Parts: sequence; structure tokens; C-alpha cells
Amino acid sequence: MSEDRVYKLIAEIVGSENVSNEPYSLECYARDSTTNKPSLPNYIAMATTVEQIQGLVRLANKERIPLIPVVGMSNTGGLTIPVEGGIIIDLHKMDKIIEINTDIDYAIVEPGVTIGQIDAELKKIGYWVSLPVGPPGSAGLLPGYILHGYGHLGGKYGINSEQITGAEFVLPDGELVRLGGGAVSPYWFHRTPIPDLLGLALGWQGSTGIVTKLGINIYQRPKFKDAVGWGIFTSHEEPLPESCARFLLKIGRSELAYDISGHSWGAVQIGKGLKYPLEPKPKEDPELYFAATTYAFTEEEITLKKKLIERLIKEGIDSGLPFDYTDVTGRIKVEMPTKYALKYSDHRGGGGLDYIGSITPVINWTKGIKRLNEIFDKFDFTPYIRLSVYRGTLQGMMRALMPYNRDDEKDVDAVQKMAREVVQVVLDCGGLIYKAPSFACKAMWERGDPNYLKLMKLVKQTLDPNSIMNPGRLGM
Ligand SMILES: Cc1cc2nc3c(=O)[nH]c(=O)nc-3n(C[C@H](O)[C@H](O)[C@H](O)COP(=O)(O)OP(=O)(O)OC[C@H]3O[C@@H](n4cnc5c(N)ncnc54)[C@H](O)[C@@H]3O)c2cc1C
Repeated sequence: MSEDRVYKLIAEIVGSENVSNEPYSLECYARDSTTNKPSLPNYIAMATTVEQIQGLVRLANKERIPLIPVVGMSNTGGLTIPVEGGIIIDLHKMDKIIEINTDIDYAIVEPGVTIGQIDAELKKIGYWVSLPVGPPGSAGLLPGYILHGYGHLGGKYGINSEQITGAEFVLPDGELVRLGGGAVSPYWFHRTPIPDLLGLALGWQGSTGIVTKLGINIYQRPKFKDAVGWGIFTSHEEPLPESCARFLLKIGRSELAYDISGHSWGAVQIGKGLKYPLEPKPKEDPELYFAATTYAFTEEEITLKKKLIERLIKEGIDSGLPFDYTDVTGRIKVEMPTKYALKYSDHRGGGGLDYIGSITPVINWTKGIKRLNEIFDKFDFTPYIRLSVYRGTLQGMMRALMPYNRDDEKDVDAVQKMAREVVQVVLDCGGLIYKAPSFACKAMWERGDPNYLKLMKLVKQTLDPNSIMNPGRLGM
């Protein structure tokens, strides 16, 4: 550890026990599970107060050093890799749930609160929030919300950022500002009707400032849970015919389910922990597995909801759709957050997991999934596709996951190529990339309104003229 000048200045802000430039520590922050190129930071600072965050931001500006906020580093987009070095500001020690307001149904959390922690706390009082469905309980709640992530209640409430009610935000010059209703009211209950400046913090991947508190909707936790599963028995070449996509719209529009999610056959096998290469798919298995999960406050309500969902599927079968019921009891026993997240990152051995997620009109999944299958086949990877219809019902998350062996250069090369091809498929389907790595952002902007990119650059330049906040993000 060399205690250089900047090291000492960081130590003055966060205390010597909360700073490191020891090579092994730096190495931990240089990469994530994806194939995005690793890059070492110069320093790690663990902030424990808002004032320390402000101090670090001011220091970074004075010294023109990049500053990268991180919590769990599980974003699967390479978004915390310090591409230009700099200071990693690790926020996981700021883990207080500041307020739980059950008169207005919102909570205020610090950036280091994990998804496991919030779920456990809210469970005690019969509440919950929309939790990301895949990551381990150690993932940060706040980063996923401000990234526009998807949660297990998305079929009912929409994507997680729609449930943000307010924020406290450190701007790149160190100023502290409240956004949302809390800017005026003592209650952080809603982001409107005042101008919605929360947009300055959402979807920017930590490149416009640091969110130090987040207000989110909380919901009473229903006592009863059930799910109906159905398989789509089609072909590898035409996995989701338009008639089946239209059925998904119908089931979404029924507003009976809190989550409507599908998995390719390969995804289900990988989820079971099976390793590459898989045995060929048995003829009797479906191409896609879907489950509609629903909750209720009374037994009567859950029974009725389940019956109505089953009726919709029966109507589908009767009208000639290639469906049959599948058993999802194993799946619905799974508590949120999931306990098996890391199982599927090691399908090919070697621990890598790359990912391209998107928000795409459901109707275009028909051509999207077909093309994703073709890409997986071309590179000899198991088609690993996940789908979730979220509120609004005409759109949802279409995702391609690519577990790979980090030690195998061929695997790494294949995944990098696949990811770029998947991006083009999403864009051809009218979709938008979620948690987009820089290359995917560039692909979006190439097709987008040039004035949108111009405005983004203007916002970034205005807020962060020295470009210290997580540089290299968003393809700018
Ligand atoms: C197996 C697996 C499954 C997953 N499934 C889902 C899923 O179902 N839904 C979903 O939404 N996500 C999912 N994810 C992605 C990820 O786990 C979640 O989005 C998680 O909430 C991110 O939290 P994190 O603490 O890891 O964030 P990090 O990776 O540490 O940070 C993410 C981004 O936020 C920025 N950031 C962090 N803190 C701040 C802050 N205070 N202010 C400003 N910027 C900040 C970072 O710079 C970075 O750009 C999954 C990941 C894995 C590995």
C-alpha cells in the first residue's frame, strides 16, 4: 500500500480504515461477471455518511479523478468497471432503512440497503417491495431501482423505477439536492406534480451524481400466493408464433397476475443446475415455459384468481393454441429474493455470466426469440432466454443470458460477438437495451434521434463538466 498524496486526502475524508490502494483490493473492483474489459481503479473508498460522499465528489473534481459508485457490482452490464481508473466509492456500509411509512406506504433507504435486507425488514410488518427476481440477496436495492430494473411485482406495478417516489442526490459539484415530493413536503410520497427532476438520476448508470437516499413505494404483503404454469409446445425454429404472443397480451391485460414470466427450455435446464452440454430436448418438453404468479389477501380471492388464469389458458388450448399446463409448484415455493441465483452462472464452468436485457414490445418477441435462438445455435451456446410481461401489457423484458467460461478465450470471444448480435435483434424488434453496456448504448444512439443524444450530452456536460462521474458510460 503506497500512501500517496491522493490516498492521504481520501483518508482524511473517510478515515484511514476506509481507504485502500492495496493491489488485491483494487483487483476485486476491476471486473464483473461479464466479458466487458477489466480495468483497475486507483483507490477504494468506503463512504459511511452523505458528507463523506460530498467530500469525495469535491476531491474528485479538484483532482480530476473519476469516481465510480458501487454497491453489489452485480449489474451484468460492466457498469462499475472503472474504465479510466479513479476512485471506487463503495456504498455498501450505508445500509440504513431510514423510514418506513405505513400511512402513506413508502420507505426511504440508503444506497447500501440490500434486497435481502429490505425484504426481511418489511416482512416483519407484513409489507414488501418489488424485488429483482434473479440476483442474490446481497445485491443493492437502490442501484437496481435507479437502473430501471425489473421486479417480481412488475406484472402489476410496472418496472421498479416507476415506484420511486423521491431521492436525495449529490451532484457532481458536491451539492446536495432533494428530488421528488420530498423536495417540498416532509413526505417522500410521489415524484409529481412538480417538474420530475428525478430523471437526472435515473438510467444514468451513476454518471450524473450519487443517490444517497431513495424513496420507494411499499405494498402490503398478501398472505396467499399461487401460480399457474403452461408450456408452449412449438418448434425451435418458431418458438413463439404470433398467436401465442397475442395470448401473452391477453393474459397481461386480464390484470390477474403480479408476474408473467417465461423461460426457454434451455433456461429451465440451466436453472436446475445442469451443465453444458445438455442432452437434446425431449420431444415431449415445451419450447417455452410460462408461469403467471398471483397473490391475494384471502383464500377466496386466491382461489378465484387461479381459476380465472386457468380458464384463460383453457380458452387458449380450446382455440387451438399449442399449450398445456405445466407444474410450477417448485418455482412458486421459491421465496424472494431467490436463493439459487449463482447456480446458473456456471453452466459452462468458469463462472462468467454475460447478459443483454431489453424492454421490447411483446408482439415483436415472435421474431425476437426466433433470432435469439439462431444466434445461440450459431455460437453453440444453450439458448437461454427469459421473458417477463410487465404492466402496460404490450411490452416486457426480453433477455438473453450467456453463461461462459472466463478462462476460455473462445468462450469470451463468442459471448462478445453474441452480445453485439443480440443488441441488433432487440433494436430490430423496436426494443431498448436495459442496463446497457457502452457498446450497446452506441448502437442505440446510432439508430436514435440525434437530438436526444445531444440533449443527454448537454445534461451531462452541465452537471459534470469535468466528467468525473463514472466516465465511459452510456456510449458518450
Ligand atoms: C443472476 C442475476 C440476476 C439478476 N436479475 C435481475 C432482475 O431480475 N432484475 C433486475 O432489475 N436486475 C437483475 N440483476 C441485476 C442486478 O443484480 C440488480 O439490478 C441489482 O439491484 C443491482 O445492484 P448492485 O448493488 O449490484 O449495483 P451495482 O452493480 O453496484 O451498480 C449498478 C449501477 O448503479 C450505479 N450506482 C450504484 N450506486 C449508486 C448510487 N448510490 N448513485 C448513483 N449510481 C449508483 C453504479 O455506478 C452502476 O452504474 C441480476 C443480476 C444477476 C447477477
